[in-house]
Amino acid sequence: MQQNEMKLEFDSRSCNEGFARVAVAAFMTQLNPTLEEVADVKTAVSEAVTNAIIHAYEGAVRKIVIESRIEEDVLTVSVKDTGKGIADVKRAMEPMFTTKAECDRAGMGFAFMEAFMDSLKVESGPGKGTCVTMTKHITREQNKYERQ
Ligand code: ATP
Ligand code: MG
Repeated sequence: MQQNEMKLEFDSRSCNEGFARVAVAAFMTQLNPTLEEVADVKTAVSEAVTNAIIHAYEGAVRKIVIESRIEEDVLTVSVKDTGKGIADVKRAMEPMFTTKAECDRAGMGFAFMEAFMDSLKVESGPGKGTCVTMTKHITREQNKYERQ
């Protein structure tokens, strides 16, 4: 069974959003993903990291932790902050719900994560920080061929 794990901790600076999505994209290349699969994961990671920077820490510089795991053909990515947390997770995940409309936020981050990944779990509470865990099955034919 192919299994592999990585963990990254970095400052919640907006310049690190690009670093985070490229790091996860690089980690997943061992699954021989298609360009579309890589783009989907990059978008989802980017949304989760942006949320931590903007909402969790509100511009203060603290730490974001990304953990990623590959098991067989499934990629799991979690993005964790220790920021302010979310009071009503169900409501926050509704498309077009945002608490920062004044900053031109569309409230579509969680909807994109849900659309581009196979599963999305959000664990959060006021003052407890937030952990977003997403999975994606990487289906490229080449993987099946390599396992034979
Ligand atoms: P967009 O992603 O379209 O720019 P948005 O960030 O407001 O807008 P979502 O990413 O869907 O939309 O998040 C919805 C709401 O959930 C946010 O407005 C915010 O209130 C809350 N939220 C999301 N992530 C976090 C987080 N890590 N910490 C605290 N609150 C969060
Ligand atoms: Mg967002």
